[in-house]
Amino acid sequence: MKIYFMPDPIPYFDLPAQIRALRPELDVALARTLDNCSFCLGQDVVQFEKDFAAFCGAGHCVCFNSGTSALHVAMLLMGVGPGDEVITTPYTFVATSWAISYAGAKPVYVDIDDATFNLNPDLLERAITPRTKAVLPVHLYGQPFDLEPVLEICGKHRLPLVEDAAQAHGAKYRGRTIGTFGAVSCFSFYPGKNLGACGEGGALVTNDAALAARARSLREHGSTVRYYHDEVGYNYRMEGFQGAVLGVKLKHLDSWTRRRQTIAQTYHQLLTDTPLQLPREAGFAESVYHLYVVRHPRRDELKKHLESNGVGCALHYPLPLHLQKCYKGLGYRPGDFPLAEKAARECLSLPVYPELTDAQVYRVAEVVAGFFKS
Ligand SMILES: *Cc1c(COP(=O)(O)O)cnc(C)c1O
Repeated sequence: MKIYFMPDPIPYFDLPAQIRALRPELDVALARTLDNCSFCLGQDVVQFEKDFAAFCGAGHCVCFNSGTSALHVAMLLMGVGPGDEVITTPYTFVATSWAISYAGAKPVYVDIDDATFNLNPDLLERAITPRTKAVLPVHLYGQPFDLEPVLEICGKHRLPLVEDAAQAHGAKYRGRTIGTFGAVSCFSFYPGKNLGACGEGGALVTNDAALAARARSLREHGSTVRYYHDEVGYNYRMEGFQGAVLGVKLKHLDSWTRRRQTIAQTYHQLLTDTPLQLPREAGFAESVYHLYVVRHPRRDELKKHLESNGVGCALHYPLPLHLQKCYKGLGYRPGDFPLAEKAARECLSLPVYPELTDAQVYRVAEVVAGFFKS
């Protein structure tokens, strides 16, 4: 019997490795929260709001119990309600559209750009109707969408821009960190995001003090003075523990981002001669590589090949939102957004996270390239 050498499996994402490395710092931060008992919002959340606003170059940051909650409140801040339409992308995590639905409005999709997977600004204007109330694109996989043409069209039609930045903490557009191009930007601190809590979390950033104040009120039962409620609000507060954790992790974010970018460069060099379409950074964009997504028509076979060779991978996203069962009522059909549908069939996400070693990166690339040799 022949014994083949099988290297250790490479996980698609290695949260335990990240937490292990941070454990001493996290222990101190979490113990502080146990001591001060600020479990709902509290001083660590307030401090993190200051630090994250500064990180984004924004005047204000309001923390939430999830990115989805932050997006929902962003829609309310823009006055989105029943009967309104919000233009967005069908190729994203479903929570982008939830925000619109929670506000009682209708998501109106436009197709993506084939090279970047982001909303195609050339298709934006023709989707605008008298009911359009806001525009909500996504900085997908960590790469900013083309903000300039989108802002120009928004300005021309007096529509506010809300950025779903859940995957793009610290990404840059023409050299400037995203977060303050539109009226508000929303971030997620889900554990798998570039900056993740030990649990759920999200934030809304803005330069507009009045919007920030209303966001704080909506986050906390529609009140600024306890037990006096100015409007119907929500319990969307961030937990004190998460503020403490995020304060620790934010200090590492820039170096983690550089590591993600280095890994992406290495993949690019190692995979450039394969038939894969590799991630393309637009000239205006500095991506933070939340995901490293390659594409190929034989995606499903490639996925099986990676899995049987111990390389973790994932699909982002297998079914565009206009074809989801929950949105059947919107009346879209297969073929309505051909580029989003094609991306959904061809995309495969390779491991990309700061804890990935060079040896693991080479191994992933070797297994991927091996698929096309066999
Ligand atoms: C993760 C994510 C969200 C939702 O954030 P949660 O914190 O999980 O609620 C929204 N939009 C996009 C694009 C995301 O990736």
